[in-house]
Amino acid sequence: MWRVTIILVLVSLTMAVDKSVIIIGSGISGYSAASRLIENGFDDVIILEAEDRIGGRINTIPFSDGFIDLGAQWVHGQVNNIIYEMTHEHFEFGSTPFVEVPFTFLFSNGTKADQELFRTISKINFDIFLALDETDTFTGSFGEMFLEVLGEVTMNDSFPVFKDLDLKIIETMKENAERFINGYCALKSWFDMSAKLSAQEDEAGGNLHNTWKKQGFKTVFDFISKKLPDPSQHIDIDSKVQLNKKVTNINYNVIDANSKAVITCEDGSSYEAKHVIFTPSLGVLKKYHESLFTPTLPEQKVLAIKTWGFGAAGKVFLEFDEPFWSEEGEPFVAYEFLWLDADKDEAKAYNREWMLGISAFYIVDEFPNMLEAYLGGPKINQFEASSDEKIIEDCMWALEKFLGKSLPKPKAMTRSKWLSNENFLGSYSYPSMDAERAGVGIKELAESINNDNGEPILLFAGEATDEKYPGNTHAGVRSGFRAADEIISSYQ
Ligand SMILES: Cc1cc2nc3c(=O)[nH]c(=O)nc-3n(C[C@H](O)[C@H](O)[C@H](O)COP(=O)(O)OP(=O)(O)OC[C@H]3O[C@@H](n4cnc5c(N)ncnc54)[C@H](O)[C@@H]3O)c2cc1C
Repeated sequence: MWRVTIILVLVSLTMAVDKSVIIIGSGISGYSAASRLIENGFDDVIILEAEDRIGGRINTIPFSDGFIDLGAQWVHGQVNNIIYEMTHEHFEFGSTPFVEVPFTFLFSNGTKADQELFRTISKINFDIFLALDETDTFTGSFGEMFLEVLGEVTMNDSFPVFKDLDLKIIETMKENAERFINGYCALKSWFDMSAKLSAQEDEAGGNLHNTWKKQGFKTVFDFISKKLPDPSQHIDIDSKVQLNKKVTNINYNVIDANSKAVITCEDGSSYEAKHVIFTPSLGVLKKYHESLFTPTLPEQKVLAIKTWGFGAAGKVFLEFDEPFWSEEGEPFVAYEFLWLDADKDEAKAYNREWMLGISAFYIVDEFPNMLEAYLGGPKINQFEASSDEKIIEDCMWALEKFLGKSLPKPKAMTRSKWLSNENFLGSYSYPSMDAERAGVGIKELAESINNDNGEPILLFAGEATDEKYPGNTHAGVRSGFRAADEIISSYQ
């Protein structure tokens, strides 16, 4: 009898439950999922990453005398922001004072606009954005709704600023409002974004522009792996990451509960795992979902992939020998450009149309000699295809035009290229009019695929799969934790 018992114990010891997990993508969502799994005793975790670096759309690079971010830069919000919550007691954030310091408005003929007038107009724009954000009863696009509300406001006697205002100024105000929304939400046009669906998303409270100072957003990975604040708690995630591993197919056609999904990479290598967490961007899904998954994904998920929005934004950083933007000793945060028709035409004639998508040139926290431009709109492909020399030339052309004087050349420049990178194909997701019409959304994007026993085999994480804060890094963390928790709870 004792022999039988020993044999049974030996058999059960050698048949440890297979809890293998492959995570595709080492952006913040994949990294967060790995952290949660390893912390819960899942040792057999591998992260396959197509790029030669960890981080995904968090791309902190050395520049000037510190680190700057080509992707995510600000911790947007302090209340209900999981990143702020896990870091702020141990990291002293900086801030870009976009709210506290008024913008400086310049016309493209080099004249300074009436600052009081444009600040009032800009405040009205902002109040309309906030109002739209809180009302989810609209049926049209964000652009249509903005214009409708603005139309009412301009006719309303309680807004005397619009009385006898030149129609051209109102047009400029509309253009700048769209430029801002296009950049902020990575849109080609604000008529593509659903007002109703965007109002259903949440925004974390408190300051929206917390900066990592000179250390950059990469610092967050030290908190997720718990190297910070207490190195003795460090969870080694980096050693689980295999770089330059572009996944080309995930065969999740598992026959029974013991079967595994098979993951194939571009270099011919293949892996097996009980669970796969897929985290690449919605841009990657849109282009490659048919070849990436065997069998093809469920119909409703495919509809959500096709219709939910994924746009592109861009950034340029210019470093100068010294700042020329705070010469009057007044606090300065940003130049906002007011384009005149002739100068728009000139920009188009010289393949500088991308510049019309720049919402502002603004200061960079802790880098006193640096200006950064943020852009959206329909010409990101032209921006990314232009040479570095052309980008510098175009930026200086515009800055000199708007400031009405010649300026020193920058001593360094760097910029993003998210749209043309096959591993991203854009910057972040947005709620589109197409998705509103199709009646699908984040729920379908996030839904896992289970085997016959109801266990999750193929799970989806990433910023676009978070119902509360899509588009953001904190959405990435939340989605990674959600997917990991789904796997963990399937063993309980
Ligand atoms: C210009 C820009 C500015 C932004 N600003 C902010 C900001 O200020 N604050 C903020 O909170 N958020 C910001 N964001 C958004 C934020 O960066 C993203 O929401 C977040 O980083 C997304 O993380 P993720 O893990 O979901 O996806 P990703 O970071 O895209 O991670 C997915 C990973 O999958 C990899 N991958 C893709 N295809 C494959 C494949 N076939 N095989 C293997 N691996 C693959 C990718 O290389 C990538 O590393 C910004 C983004 C951009 C681009």
